[in-house]
Amino acid sequence: MPETFYQQATAAPATPFDVSLRPPAFSEFVGQEKVKERLLLMLEAARQRGDVLDHVLLSGPPGLGKTTLATLIARAAGSQLHTTSGPQIEKAGDLAGVLTNIQKGDILFIDEIHRLHPSIEEYLYPAMEDFRLDIIIDSGPSARSIQINLPRFTLVGATTRSGMLTAPLRSRFGLINRLDYYTHEELARIIERSAGLLDVEIERPGALEIAARSRGTPRVANALLRWVRDFAQVRGSGKIDGATADAALAMIEIDSQGLDEMDKRLLEALIVKFNGGPVGLNSLAVALGEDAATIEEVHEPFLIMQGFIQRTPRGRMAMATAYEKVGMTPPPRPADPQGTLF
Ligand code: ADP
Repeated sequence: MPETFYQQATAAPATPFDVSLRPPAFSEFVGQEKVKERLLLMLEAARQRGDVLDHVLLSGPPGLGKTTLATLIARAAGSQLHTTSGPQIEKAGDLAGVLTNIQKGDILFIDEIHRLHPSIEEYLYPAMEDFRLDIIIDSGPSARSIQINLPRFTLVGATTRSGMLTAPLRSRFGLINRLDYYTHEELARIIERSAGLLDVEIERPGALEIAARSRGTPRVANALLRWVRDFAQVRGSGKIDGATADAALAMIEIDSQGLDEMDKRLLEALIVKFNGGPVGLNSLAVALGEDAATIEEVHEPFLIMQGFIQRTPRGRMAMATAYEKVGMTPPPRPADPQGTLF
């Protein structure tokens, strides 16, 4: 169960609130300019050739817009979108069920594709490459393989852990896109757009205040906006200005850089219990009473991006800014740790 605000905000699947704020066209999808440009080019090329779009992989932390892009690709291609996820496909039969429902040119979106079972992945290779499914039915001496020809389709895979994808699966995607965290300016635009849809008045400083604490993530920005809207309605005039946003976000203990209580506990544990590290992910997870995957996928990427922690081959290490964040003095940097300078 998600515990902190950010875990809640980035937990899959998307809520009806998320869906209601989802941009309906590429022109309303803010940021990720390079990714958009590449996708639009691919779509145009496929359209000109009257061909089916090549398979696309979208990677990046939760809430950055992977599912949204999949829906936009399907819409731009005028195709039907079928949605499933790695953990939902437990048996080869599940995959066969999904694939045999597909029509020519349809988009199959597989979220969390890195969580597909390796044996299922093997069925996916010929499906992606030759649009063919080789299924083994029965077992023992009567086992036999049957081949099903599939219509040409496009697989859009999404993953928060592109490093966990096997090389053969990666190589079958025509285009691999990594989504980056959004800038404050981009997030402010997303917040202003969402406020318009929610019919809430917002001033630029209010939008920027929320943006700065959104961890570069649109889904978090929208979730924070929802909270600030409620706060403004009950404690203020309903309008979101800078001061209202600030007071609202202080009430849920999100600091000016967007760190929540779990981020702070993580930094504190790393510094106090593990002497600044290096420490392995699992030891850290046990000390925090938190799921290792949640730490790795939700909290760490942002803390690393902001320079609070570093991931080294020996484990996680606290950087000087992490000490400052929890109100402690960083240890002096050993000038010559190996004694080998000069
Ligand atoms: P992911 O699949 O990467 O977890 P989603 O596509 O579900 O992320 O995005 C979460 C929500 O954030 C969407 O429902 C949408 O409201 C919003 N969102 C994401 N990216 C953008 C964007 N570039 N512009 C505007 N809103 C966005």
